[in-house]
Amino acid sequence: MRPRKIPLRKCVACQEMKPKKELIRVVRTPEDQVLIDLTGKKSGRGAYLCGQVRCFQLAKKSKAFERALKLQVDPAIYDQLEQDFIAVEDQFLASKERADDETE
Ligand SMILES: [Zn+2]
Repeated sequence: MRPRKIPLRKCVACQEMKPKKELIRVVRTPEDQVLIDLTGKKSGRGAYLCGQVRCFQLAKKSKAFERALKLQVDPAIYDQLEQDFIAVEDQFLASKERADDETE
């Protein structure tokens, strides 16, 4: 395998730099909604999180989204996001494993 340049992004919760595909993107849409963006292609200001609920909870506690997205985030939105995050976590891990299995 030859090494390739992997784009790195920083998790807003634990501040670790990781390859983009190991992070979940949270986006602030032009309508000021805060959503989980699994495609990574939605327009708007984005924040990256490790694909782990642990980091979501850390971000919630430290208000990392407020800082990263420059938006007041309602506790109800955090609750909704957390549910979405847990729902996508499994999906995310499964797709990551599939990607790791692919030979290039
Ligand atoms: Zn993290």
